[in-house]
Amino acid sequence: MCGIFAYVGSDNKASQKVLEGLKLLEYRGYDSWGIASRIQNSKFKIQNSKFTLEKHVGKIGNAELSSELSANSSQLALGHTRWATHGGVTVENAHPHLDCKKEIAVIHNGIVENFQEIKHELVKKRHVFTSQTDTEVIPHLIEEYLKKEGFASSVKDAFNRLKGLNAIVVAYAPSSEIIAAKTGSPLVMGHATDGFYIASDASGIIKHTKKVIFLKDNEMVILGKNIQLVSLSGGQKITPRYETINWKIEDEEKGAYKHFLIKEIHEQLNVIEYIALNSLADSNKLANLIDKAFGTFMLGCGTASYAALAGTYLFSRIAKKHVNFSIGSEFTYLIDYLTPESLVIPISQSGETIDVVSSIEHAKEKSSKIAAVVNVRGSTIYRQADEKILLYAGPEKAVVGTKSFTAMVAILLLSAFSLAKKQNEGKKLLHQASKNIRDILKENYIKEIKKVVEKIKKKEHIYIIGRGLSYAAALETSLKIKETSYMHAEGFAGGELKHGVIALIEKGTPCIVIAPLDETYDDIISNAAEIAARGGFIIGIGPKNNSVFDAFLPTEDCRDATFIPQVVIAQVLAYNLALSRGISDPDKPRNLAKSVTVK
Ligand code: GLU
Repeated sequence: MCGIFAYVGSDNKASQKVLEGLKLLEYRGYDSWGIASRIQNSKFKIQNSKFTLEKHVGKIGNAELSSELSANSSQLALGHTRWATHGGVTVENAHPHLDCKKEIAVIHNGIVENFQEIKHELVKKRHVFTSQTDTEVIPHLIEEYLKKEGFASSVKDAFNRLKGLNAIVVAYAPSSEIIAAKTGSPLVMGHATDGFYIASDASGIIKHTKKVIFLKDNEMVILGKNIQLVSLSGGQKITPRYETINWKIEDEEKGAYKHFLIKEIHEQLNVIEYIALNSLADSNKLANLIDKAFGTFMLGCGTASYAALAGTYLFSRIAKKHVNFSIGSEFTYLIDYLTPESLVIPISQSGETIDVVSSIEHAKEKSSKIAAVVNVRGSTIYRQADEKILLYAGPEKAVVGTKSFTAMVAILLLSAFSLAKKQNEGKKLLHQASKNIRDILKENYIKEIKKVVEKIKKKEHIYIIGRGLSYAAALETSLKIKETSYMHAEGFAGGELKHGVIALIEKGTPCIVIAPLDETYDDIISNAAEIAARGGFIIGIGPKNNSVFDAFLPTEDCRDATFIPQVVIAQVLAYNLALSRGISDPDKPRNLAKSVTVK
């Protein structure tokens, strides 16, 4: 979840580079940050073998380095944005953490599950701890091993004692190397002309180099004058396997847009077009796997879970095929059903979602086949999978998922049509949806959305109902509103209204009714009437206006794809609601992180 960024090389502005790198990783979400730098004199001699630290609570924003770090040269630095798991959000708990002698600096992503046991042992050996984090055991443990062995083997042995899914970067001031190791969380190493970079994702690195190595689990990389990749289990050397990142720097920048969120909402029409034209082979592949499997399970977390839920409706109605759905964190409790003939389809933007990663591990123990639908090539889930289906949505930097959802459902829709041997029809609907999204994103239309926002922005609660595919759309709509604007929003199946939810409706309670022209139309309109009868303010979204709607946001009728533009309207509404409720940075909602790599 956190951001890791480190540099070692010939440039003497290491601290500055690391600060800039952390800024590029800010989108991942965090609550404090810090940098450790090894200061050198003008001849690049190590001035003292201790680290200079700078740590802060809150956002980096436009932060500049303290005078100590900015005035001095350094060719080695490491920085971290922390998403606290153990110990409050304080300066002491922010990373990097040091050993007693302040010679070893560590940044860490994940949870050291056995930290209490290790800490107990180290306290007995008179190590002094200055934070409440699980992380701080790592530099002290390395300090212990260093009494008997060299830097690299100390890091290896210390890391092998940690339980849990972890990624660390370590620097030892008397040496000119940094070492990174991982078991679960992602790490990518960049090899540039001016040295080596290591980061928790490639975003921070592509500015410097496109030549990268995605570290595999149980690997350690030693970076100094050159690079050494080592197995954490046996200690044997591994030949470095370089990959070239193929996205452009513009994909990483906001350009003319105020926020990544609105930029990425706009990118959706291209994403759908791309999938309609280029993902036919992938969707055929997924369709064939589903056809052959004896029991298919789609899983995801958050937005991806709603894409998976939409998938169950799409496969049922288009391909007459039953697929099961589970949210990632619940799947572990359903694995008794799995056999070697089962197919598990994890769906994830980042490819790092820990609940999905561990579900896959369980499914693999049952020898089931894994066909992953992911956005990030080389990510953990991508590598775990037997079959890989890429989303090609491009880097998604806003924490709130938008274009990744659209890409996920577009691929699932196309696959359902492939299975029904009607791929051209699927393609046609995607083109139609993309055309409709283009209209929705025009200024005139956004004006209409803003009028609705004005009417509801002061409310405390909003409810969203839909049936069938629009039920999945209602859940996704409510999540967008919650995480973007902090308004309490709940999505329900229209049919559930009378079983409890209607008790919440008062005069003026806003309620979004998702009403495509399919078999759900009459029933959802009846539900809308039931809400209206209790004084609810009804916002209809769909191809056809109705007298029960107090406000109406029209879409085209794109048949099975209508829910895609409906969700885009909800995204634009959520974004504008956030702005009108005074949320200054909708790209980074409070308490959230982009890729959820801890349980
Ligand atoms: N568990 C560590 C802490 O709470 C690391 C958290 C993170 O991944 O940012 O400091």
